[in-house]
Amino acid sequence: MVVASSVFSQQSHKPLFETIKVAFGRRLLRKKSSLTYAAEDDILPLVKNYLDKVREYTFPGFIDVHVHFRDPGMTNAETIASGLKSARRGGFGAVVTMPNTNPACDSPKLLRYQVENSQLENSQFENSKITLFPSACITRGRLGKEVADLEALAEAGAAFFTDDGTYVHDDKVMEEAMRRIADLNMVVSQHALAPDVTEAEAITRDLKLCRETGCRLHIQHISTAKGVELVRSAQREGLPVTAEATPHHLLLTREDIPAGPDGGNFKMAPPLAGREDRAEVRKGVKDGVLMFATDHAPHPAATKNCGYEKSANGIIGLETAIPITYQVMVEEEGMSIEDWAKAWYDLPRALIHQFSIRNSQFENSKIDLSPTVIRVGEKRRVEVNNFASLSRNCPYNGMEFNCWPIV
Ligand SMILES: [Zn+2]
Repeated sequence: MVVASSVFSQQSHKPLFETIKVAFGRRLLRKKSSLTYAAEDDILPLVKNYLDKVREYTFPGFIDVHVHFRDPGMTNAETIASGLKSARRGGFGAVVTMPNTNPACDSPKLLRYQVENSQLENSQFENSKITLFPSACITRGRLGKEVADLEALAEAGAAFFTDDGTYVHDDKVMEEAMRRIADLNMVVSQHALAPDVTEAEAITRDLKLCRETGCRLHIQHISTAKGVELVRSAQREGLPVTAEATPHHLLLTREDIPAGPDGGNFKMAPPLAGREDRAEVRKGVKDGVLMFATDHAPHPAATKNCGYEKSANGIIGLETAIPITYQVMVEEEGMSIEDWAKAWYDLPRALIHQFSIRNSQFENSKIDLSPTVIRVGEKRRVEVNNFASLSRNCPYNGMEFNCWPIV
């Protein structure tokens, strides 16, 4: 849906004309930096070339179902306020926060803490409020030993359940969790990887439990061809399974990891894979098997600027997610802009409990997200130092992209 096109100078990338008024279906334009007025028709030949290239689109608010805001616990890397600023800058309408804070988010009190802080941050903005949906732990303390009080967490507004950052190893614990989450008609979201368990092994175990319990299952940050294949065939089988792909796994491969200190900004879990894996992850998005999610993972510089081997896992992603996924999926892979956008707004909604509640019990309660507006056709460079995030652990500094959110 094309909503508006502005008239811009291509050289300067600054607005060249502004609309004075619309009358009888014609726009009256004024050239900036002068007082000359002109009817649209008179100057159209001048700007037609630009209008053909630059377009703006408005979509229902994009949702990033995988962000880390480090609040409480590591607020020098990100807070709820700075995380929401970063999400706003990145063009999102909502985010789902992961529960690996310190302490871990395994209690209604910590869910309320996040929602109340997000409301405080949003109260400064008339429009463009960013909705924060907090997820909650599967197990107490994220320790993988004992299932958390899922029913109380659901009641307190958990979006879904995950121990993200850690795979739930114990089959019995995971089975009990999935039975209870199925009863709640909610989603369990798995970090499908551990030092001694491959992505394929983790997904295979969880698909078996999904088949047995009927629990809705979401696989986080798929990175391998085998992982995509398992999710694809499970969906064909009719299992209630979804999964996500991150911008970094779609754009980069392990061959892109530089030597030296900057290598730390290319380290995350799961790690960057090979070209064949990347091709299959892209195909999974294009076919509608995978949705997008950033895994926005802020870290202080000291734990990231020390080379690939020694650095902590994770990179920030909110402020570059729209440009990267657009370039990879629309420009390089030929996905339609509508299908690309749906992988940011349509598929993610199905995961979030508050949306399901609205659809069943509370027809009248509304969740209105701020819309996402993007401009395509104007190249801009990534400037990490201008990010709203408190962290700078980003591998894309200086790269140019053609599609940016309008905030
Ligand atoms: Zn994870």
